[in-house]
Amino acid sequence: MPEQHIVAIANQKGGVGKTTTAVNLGAALAEAGHSVILIDLDPQGNASTGLGITADQRRHTVYELLTGEIELSSAAVETDVTNLRVVPSTSDLASADVDLSQTADRTRLLERQLASASPGTIVLIDCPPALGLLTVNAMVAASSVLVPLQAEFYALEGLSQLLGTVKQVRQGANPRLRINGILLTMSDYRNNLSQQVEADARETLGDLVYPTVIPRNVRVSEAPSHAQPVLAYDPQSKGSVAYRQFATEFMARLNLIPEIA
Ligand code: ADP
Ligand code: MG
Repeated sequence: MPEQHIVAIANQKGGVGKTTTAVNLGAALAEAGHSVILIDLDPQGNASTGLGITADQRRHTVYELLTGEIELSSAAVETDVTNLRVVPSTSDLASADVDLSQTADRTRLLERQLASASPGTIVLIDCPPALGLLTVNAMVAASSVLVPLQAEFYALEGLSQLLGTVKQVRQGANPRLRINGILLTMSDYRNNLSQQVEADARETLGDLVYPTVIPRNVRVSEAPSHAQPVLAYDPQSKGSVAYRQFATEFMARLNLIPEIA
């Protein structure tokens, strides 16, 4: 039976490319024939919006998934991308940290619900920019954590705190949690600084850093306002090519091969 792959896309810094990576990795995996569910765990709901999920389609959200009011199969809504579904979020989720703080097993709410994902489904979790209860829920539910790092001066700052949280989760609620890898995003090849950050990251973190680097590309930043992954909005753009190439490396790390249609 195929394994369940649940990958939390996490970094407590905002604006490093978590949501962009969740949406476009999801689209690339779906394109390769995998069934993908993206969990939008950020109250800002950018992944939901970027995939064209309307207010009407957000009547059921990840909040109700966490509280157990609905199940994964009814929470996940179809997107325009074949094989890619999303569990949307709304700003209600912003109070979850407080609302759920007294709930029994409050770090296992998502894990419990994701157990019903069908084998072979790849679940990607777009985490909020914090290491609070939502991100901990993602890490407890996940088999691994993918960390996007923006190729800028302070990129590596804060990483030890993130890895500290991973370690705590591993020593407690989820011993099988692994680091899937580090993805460098928004790299500008004209900028020496991007190259320096890449060199530093590879020296410090070694093979954890994915070979593919995602370039800064205006088509990537335009795509969400067209409610599409860049892979659909401009399939031949540099951003699309890079995300597809990264997805191939990601599948190899998960020992997945593209499904035969
Ligand atoms: P996070 O989810 O970590 O907060 P986002 O994925 O929302 O980060 O990215 C932050 C901003 O940067 C967004 O406006 C997004 O469109 C833009 N962005 C992300 N990746 C790229 C890229 N490769 N090229 C250009 N803009 C990008
Ligand atoms: Mg985001």
